Amino acid sequence: MPEKGTFNWAKGFVLDFALSDGMSKTAVSTKRYLAQMKGMFADDAAYAKMLPDNPLVYEFFELGAPENSGDIAFGTSITYPGKVGDEYFMTKGHFHTILETAEVYYGLSGEGFMLIENPEGDTTAHPIAPGKAVYVPKRYAHRSVNTGSVPLTTFFAFRGDAGHNYATIETKGFRKLIVAGVDGKPEITDNPRWGA
Ligand code: ZN
Repeated sequence: MPEKGTFNWAKGFVLDFALSDGMSKTAVSTKRYLAQMKGMFADDAAYAKMLPDNPLVYEFFELGAPENSGDIAFGTSITYPGKVGDEYFMTKGHFHTILETAEVYYGLSGEGFMLIENPEGDTTAHPIAPGKAVYVPKRYAHRSVNTGSVPLTTFFAFRGDAGHNYATIETKGFRKLIVAGVDGKPEITDNPRWGA
């Protein structure tokens, strides 16, 4: 079985994205457990309570695309269902190191939102579901949020050299949160700790 970095980026290749094996046979995933997301959820008490179980919040499969402007990095991302307090499980989220680079996400399973914001504070939550493609424009940080009860799986593709800037979001957070409202439906609220 091919491992990360063994795909033929010069001659092309076919990758079987059959979800039955979750890509486990074709790439190595990067896993993010709750303990790696300290300070990213708004409810510290709920976070501390869940920490002993340290659930897997999300993972993503990258194929090791060459970091060139002419190559395209792609893979899948799986955000698991769950909540910390009222806040749905989500990815850390990131800007691209090269801010002027966009990304496309395509929903494969589950439901949720792609929460995006730019440095000037413009924010949108785009719904994701199977068959929906979300275009994340250049200059926008992006985070997947699973508001459903099954894994939210997406296919993503972006310019090979775009890079990931996680630090800005780790420091400031997103301006908006997606939480379960009193009726159990997702609600978008202001992040009281944004910029703190
Ligand atoms: Zn990205």
